[in-house]
Amino acid sequence: MLAADFGRLAEQVQMVARAGADLLHLDIMDGRFVPNISFGQDVVRAVSEMTDLPLDVHLMIAEPERYVEEFARCGASIITVHIEAVTHVHRVVQTIHQLKVDAGVALCPGTPVSLLEDILPEVELVLLMSVNPGFGGQAFIPASLGRIQRLVDLRERTGSKAFIEVDGGIGPDNAQEVVKAGAQILVAGTAVFRAPDPASAILSLKKAHELRHA
Ligand code: ZN
Repeated sequence: MLAADFGRLAEQVQMVARAGADLLHLDIMDGRFVPNISFGQDVVRAVSEMTDLPLDVHLMIAEPERYVEEFARCGASIITVHIEAVTHVHRVVQTIHQLKVDAGVALCPGTPVSLLEDILPEVELVLLMSVNPGFGGQAFIPASLGRIQRLVDLRERTGSKAFIEVDGGIGPDNAQEVVKAGAQILVAGTAVFRAPDPASAILSLKKAHELRHA
């Protein structure tokens, strides 16, 4: 939703829901963990009142453990924390589960995938950033493809069932290779909201997905 027009948020939420989006990805930025500031709990709560779609809340914030309870209360279905932002990732994941919300862990492009080994069986989602977090509209980092493949291997090895989500610079031109590498959830902001026809952009992203899983 980071690339949405916030003056017409309700309309934009309805539009992506009608176009077949499976979930709404909300990027929370604090100006500390990432250079930029986006929006907070009130926007998440407002969006949750606009739709029945699951809210995928990506916390790009320092000390996310201080806020998970509040985001759960605001209607998050999935809460993802950055492994670089927490000292006790296992504890945060436990807290998220106690709130009856699915837990995800996110990795910046420079953080080794192998760091996930022990937490992978505990989470429902792993989010690989394919740009450096902080701003929308950046170009996809090609090395992300190899990282997705390494995560697929690690997931098999650890017996994890976590979904693999990829976030950053994804659009109709690269969606297929990202899915082919093993991504199951594609996050797209600019490619949807800045497209001349956002509904058809969602459709072409979903097609890339179906080609792989058909
Ligand atoms: Zn995100």
